[in-house]
Amino acid sequence: MHYKYKIEFDPRKCKCCNNEFVPQHHAQHHCSTECRATYNRDRSRERDRQERMKRKGNKSLSQLQREARMLGMSYGMYVAQMQKGAV
Ligand SMILES: [Zn+2]
Repeated sequence: MHYKYKIEFDPRKCKCCNNEFVPQHHAQHHCSTECRATYNRDRSRERDRQERMKRKGNKSLSQLQREARMLGMSYGMYVAQMQKGAV
């Protein structure tokens, strides 16, 4: 087996596009800067969403319970729907 390039790290799969690539340094998880940018953007968006969920969109618990009742859902169901982005 002969490699065109010197391989210093084992190939791994890109966290973004799932392509296999050989990282240039141990902390590299993406095949390209585009994939890294995409991943970071998604992750920060996800973090924003979770932050919002933690703050419950500035809605109080009783307000959420009231809204859930209006939609004919239990509070748990309502929150689950919101987490899925359905409400
Ligand atoms: Zn990629």
